[in-house]
Amino acid sequence: ANPAPSDFIRDIVATHVAEKRYQQIVTRFPPEPNGYLHIGHAKSICLNFGIARENGGYCNLRMDDTNPTKEEVEYVDSITADVRWLIAGWADHCLGLKPKGTTPAKRLIDEREDYHLPPASLGLDDATLSAQIANHALEPFFASDYFEQLYQYALQLIRAGKAYVCDLSPEETDAYRGSPDKPGKESPYRNRSIEENLDLFQRMRAGEFPNGARSLRAKIDMAAPNIWLRDPLLYRIRHAAHHHTGDAWCIYPLYDFAHCLSDYLEGITHSVCTLEFVDHRALYDWILDQLNLPRPQPHQYEFAKLIPSYMIVSKRRLIQLVNEKVVSGWDDPRMPTISGIRRRGVPASAVRAFVTGVGVTKYNSLTDIAVFEHAVREDLNASAQRRLGVLRPIKVVLTNLAADEVIECAAVNNPQDEHPTMRRIALTREVFIDADDFAEVPPPKYFRLKPGGEVRLKYACIIKCDEVIKDAAGAVIELRCTADLSTRAGQPNADRKVKGTIHWVSATRCIDAEVRLYDRLFTVPEPGAQEDFMQAVNPHSLDVVTAKLEPSLATASVAERFQFERLGYFAVDPKDSAPGKLVFNRTITLKDTWAK
Ligand code: ATP
Ligand code: MG
Ligand code: MG
Repeated sequence: ANPAPSDFIRDIVATHVAEKRYQQIVTRFPPEPNGYLHIGHAKSICLNFGIARENGGYCNLRMDDTNPTKEEVEYVDSITADVRWLIAGWADHCLGLKPKGTTPAKRLIDEREDYHLPPASLGLDDATLSAQIANHALEPFFASDYFEQLYQYALQLIRAGKAYVCDLSPEETDAYRGSPDKPGKESPYRNRSIEENLDLFQRMRAGEFPNGARSLRAKIDMAAPNIWLRDPLLYRIRHAAHHHTGDAWCIYPLYDFAHCLSDYLEGITHSVCTLEFVDHRALYDWILDQLNLPRPQPHQYEFAKLIPSYMIVSKRRLIQLVNEKVVSGWDDPRMPTISGIRRRGVPASAVRAFVTGVGVTKYNSLTDIAVFEHAVREDLNASAQRRLGVLRPIKVVLTNLAADEVIECAAVNNPQDEHPTMRRIALTREVFIDADDFAEVPPPKYFRLKPGGEVRLKYACIIKCDEVIKDAAGAVIELRCTADLSTRAGQPNADRKVKGTIHWVSATRCIDAEVRLYDRLFTVPEPGAQEDFMQAVNPHSLDVVTAKLEPSLATASVAERFQFERLGYFAVDPKDSAPGKLVFNRTITLKDTWAK
């Protein structure tokens, strides 16, 4: 129903399509497996997969895994699962994966004429795709699969006099680089002979030198206004095991060297990244330009990061929340991670609508969290089944009903449906209402239940509060009311109006469930801008209650979404819920309670 999105990157792609510049549009999503994906990554995923999808292309999922010390298989797996969840049913046919153990780089090199290598996942139905991922027949691409090829490219640069081995320490290298307004200083090792460079680089690879002793640097221009062109590092020594290549390597390429060449090796046409890489683009192009590559070069395009207010979008900081146990894990429903958002009950379609709706721009700005919440409510309003539940129950005895009396009432499942269906709920002598819906001493304009007052029980009838029963400490434990059964649907006084309508459940026909109520994880709009973002953590972001729910919810499944009327949208927690021991997460309230 929504028109195809349009933005400056899609405009560029459209021009290239019109020019028939490429056989096919190929993008990639290249996370570093050093943490779980967050809502910001969702924007990049939807942009890259969206461009592929709109142009009959595909998008490779590639682990940008060139830093062995921070990366883990757990992250590779979570990233793969999160991407699949986010694009399922929307762009899974564009998902570029590869048969396990293959290195497309090698094949691409051997097949120069016909370099186009479609991802193995193309054309597989969802079940087959899932099975192939589960049994590891298919896996993402890995930059580390190209280490040998990247090494060969580095040798080629050395032979062309475009790279040299430098013995400056990391600190010296930094100091020599200068600042934007001050030219850098050339390394004393800059003019080593090609033979010496080849020898030293091969010995770096062979493990002859300790960490930090030497590096490989591009030989560009120490006076370049763009600092990234001041003889940037291409390789450093790291004696460390790698999650994917094990102990095969003790030198590792830096991002700038690995990224452009990985893009090239995979036949990427449009390499879309965020604005912090604008200054790297010259280096991206420089490296590719030096190598006399036989196939068309990829190009880099940049857009602004998505930073929603009240959220943190930085893996480094999110990991701190996990490690310091501020949250229960990466998938804690309060986390802005894709796995947290999913566990909380937000549908993938709502995440996609949000990240697409905010558009693609060239300037950084904070996106109001209300925009995210609006997208979630819109999605759930259309799709969620309505149910009745009571979060903080107080008992109401309808004194004019017999103990075994059951009055069937009809409740609508989803009024947003074109042909709404109904279900039966039981009105009995004892019901629960929410403590919030009763006030012994009501404020002005209080339209819910009060002593002597009337209220309508939704889908049932009007009740009147005759008596308030308290315990010894003065707490209200029971309300004794009269039900006016003539105000039920189809009865003579069905149209009688009272100002308040409240939700309720039968006390004898309800189930107990743990319900987790969430508030924002941070108390300030821009926690990432705080000196210490941990100081901005909201200490009251989780409230757990034992709720009373209508019995039809006993069989609720993880895939379903519910609106508990007047309370918000809820979903079964996929981790902590078990048959007979239901746990629901409140995905979101019905309206923005923070605005009030
Ligand atoms: P972090 O700081 O959270 O580690 P990153 O950029 O280092 O983020 P990567 O794993 O390298 O994380 O990101 C993969 C891709 O996602 C990159 O192309 C990056 O530009 C993009 N990306 C990261 N954060 C955002 C964001 N907030 N909005 C949009 N795209 C993002
Ligand atoms: Mg990165
Ligand atoms: Mg990072």
